[in-house]
Amino acid sequence: TTQEWQALDAAHHIHPFSDMGALNRAGSRVIVRGEGVYLWDSEGHQIMDGMAGLWCVNVGYGRKELADAAARQMQELAYYNTFFKTTHPAVIELSRLLAEVTPPGFEHFFFTNSGSEGNDTIIRMVRRYWDIIGQPERKVIISRHNAYHGSTVGAASLGGMDYMHSQGGLPIPDIEHIDQPYWYAEGGDLSPEAFGLKVARQLEEKILAVGPERVAAFIGEPFQGAGGVIFPPDSYWPEIQRICRQYGILLVADEVIGGFGRTGHWFASQHFGIEPDLMTIAKGMTSGYIPMGGVAISRRVADPLINEGGDFNHGLTYSGHPVAAAVAIRNIGILREEGIVERVMNDTGPYFQRCLKEALADNPLIGEVAGTGLVAGMQLTRNKATRELFPNRGEVGLLCRDFCFANNLIMRATGERMLLSPPLVISRSEIDELVSRAQHCITLTARKLGM
Ligand code: PLP
Repeated sequence: TTQEWQALDAAHHIHPFSDMGALNRAGSRVIVRGEGVYLWDSEGHQIMDGMAGLWCVNVGYGRKELADAAARQMQELAYYNTFFKTTHPAVIELSRLLAEVTPPGFEHFFFTNSGSEGNDTIIRMVRRYWDIIGQPERKVIISRHNAYHGSTVGAASLGGMDYMHSQGGLPIPDIEHIDQPYWYAEGGDLSPEAFGLKVARQLEEKILAVGPERVAAFIGEPFQGAGGVIFPPDSYWPEIQRICRQYGILLVADEVIGGFGRTGHWFASQHFGIEPDLMTIAKGMTSGYIPMGGVAISRRVADPLINEGGDFNHGLTYSGHPVAAAVAIRNIGILREEGIVERVMNDTGPYFQRCLKEALADNPLIGEVAGTGLVAGMQLTRNKATRELFPNRGEVGLLCRDFCFANNLIMRATGERMLLSPPLVISRSEIDELVSRAQHCITLTARKLGM
């Protein structure tokens, strides 16, 4: 029974990012099945998943093709590694496919089990790159406040979440942070464009403060995901790109959320016109059916690494795991054969953005709806005209999230933003349902606040 599951869960399982005392008192919701954009819990409720799990189930739940691909690979070659002098067909084929779907110039790939490990790999790889280039003093990586790059020691250090840094004595040395391009909350009287330029120029100020000869790379999510689906003003990325080029530092795009079709492009960098030297990839690469992450490496970094670097002393037992690779190959096959990314670009993406903006235009609680393709962040505000935020940041978001949960909709709350990022296979009629449910829950929240 549900009660038995909950009691066992409370007795033996520690959940990530959770207050376990509070969770155990309330009892976890037990999710037992998924199909398309829907989940079912152990009480038989059908739940609409507006978040594709944790932004990862791009091809939707219940894809038998992916289960079959995993089973076939397990029977053929369940495990082998690519350390030392061996390789295997699945990882070769996946690397070839990735070279086709990533932007021009990316021809090499390093594999991990997660996005966090991908970003740890980035830290070591960019420092190794500068060693090989003969500038070993270039160690500093500049990131942004409120960025999320994962939970391992390295990735959480790159991230800019104070509540993560305060647990475990992070960040590690030689990681620096600048402001994020969050115009709604932090832009003051500046126009979005002026604000975008101002925060981008903090990168140059930081480079000069640290010493240009010590800076290795800048890392950013093209749009900040877990930080609240924060879309930068149009002026932001071109200026960041210009500064990286001027000082010769590597530009790293964390594509863990944005990759594999979320914005209607294969990679979110393409939406913003960013030309990164390295990209972190994970989540949508396997649609979350099996853990896999990695790093896409441009020729600038790959050439010295391959031709002059000798050993790169980094790797995981499961780097390029054959079963994960087989699932990724089939997943990318599905994304291509069903034209899913193109549909997000030309049909479901624009439809979702239009419906959501129209539905929330007159809602007193929503100050802006930001997004593109099938990802959106809705700003909760106390006053639309002045962009005033609520005093206890986060509480209103949790209130809204709880209304969603009670109404069988998964919508995420981050600070004062409500987030949606549904499976990329969502149909127009399912988008209608998603938008109307989200609107209903936001209206319930507004009423509760007396707005
Ligand atoms: N980078 C970004 C942008 C993410 O959103 C996440 C996870 O949400 C990660 C990295 C970490 O990935 P993982 O949870 O697979 O370690």
